[in-house]
Amino acid sequence: MERFLASQDQVKMEKNMAEIEKMLKESGALLEGHFLLSSGRHSSRYFQCAKFLQYPDRAAAGLKPLTDRLRGDLQKGTLAVDAIAGPALGGIIVAYELGRQLGLPAVFTERDESGGMTLRRGFEVWAGENILIAEDVITTAKSSAETARALEALGGRIAALACIVDRRSPGVTVPWRIYSAYTAPAPDWDPADCELCRQGRPLVKPGSRKIF
Ligand SMILES: [Zn+2]
Repeated sequence: MERFLASQDQVKMEKNMAEIEKMLKESGALLEGHFLLSSGRHSSRYFQCAKFLQYPDRAAAGLKPLTDRLRGDLQKGTLAVDAIAGPALGGIIVAYELGRQLGLPAVFTERDESGGMTLRRGFEVWAGENILIAEDVITTAKSSAETARALEALGGRIAALACIVDRRSPGVTVPWRIYSAYTAPAPDWDPADCELCRQGRPLVKPGSRKIF
């Protein structure tokens, strides 16, 4: 019986994953080609979640399976969250939408003049507060780690990490549980070692029309 239930859950998760993949593609948030990532590496896939989030009704529907999973674990007591925090800019709308669906406060962290991730605007964290970090895309998880450090320094406790897309390369690990709406490890290469460069495919810097 348990195995049957587990496979039912698996089927449901795969169906949800296929649905959000379709939504990401339809809104132009999932691009396939040859891209220069902000890390300097090259990849065959690029995610621009802002294009998905520009349609609030679609974003609400697309993120519902994710908030259902979070709500399920909150109700079971296997997850405790008091507030949601998203790093600017990508995490702000995600934190807001998750907070709206879960009935939790949502704040954001941002970079100060020296480039460090901080909590500003009078947002507060209390000692022991359980915080869910919200992100659009997880690649290296660098900004999540910086956000976690900033919140932990204020006494917060990181409960988990929620994101729209988990595209971590193999080997990128994070110390928290990850809840993602869409999981798709996307290959990325050092420019010197890029398969698509070798094939002579034009390199695109996302967000600009320039072709290298
Ligand atoms: Zn390349």
